[in-house]
Amino acid sequence: MRKTSQPEPNLRMTRQRQVILEALTGSEAHPTGDEIYRLARRRLPHISLGTVYRNLEVLSEAGLICKLELGGAPRRFDPKTDDHHHIRCLRCGKVEDIALAPVAGIERAVEAQRGYEVVGRRLELLGYCPHCRSLRRV
Ligand code: ZN
Ligand code: MN
Repeated sequence: MRKTSQPEPNLRMTRQRQVILEALTGSEAHPTGDEIYRLARRRLPHISLGTVYRNLEVLSEAGLICKLELGGAPRRFDPKTDDHHHIRCLRCGKVEDIALAPVAGIERAVEAQRGYEVVGRRLELLGYCPHCRSLRRV
């Protein structure tokens, strides 16, 4: 779900948060909290898993990163906070960005159709990535 709130300007950027943010920004793989923990530990060997998860929540609340509320476990995180969508490989679990024409129009259409106030959306496409396709017998 996309939040419309603006990033919190007064978030204290601690060394831990900086390292976590950089670990995430340097990755295009939409890593899980555990993967971010492993990356962060290279620079902060004593950081704990709980600290990483707590700071991921704080950074996400501040709008600096996105929590991906998608199918599949565990939860993944995204340094890209603009409105974009994802495709997930059903075999290896990889999650990649996809560029789609804006779909904002569907919210107005659904409001007109069902009378809801639409406040968010989750859109995830499912498939098999090129690597996994090459392994499948068709
Ligand atoms: Zn795959
Ligand atoms: Mn993404």
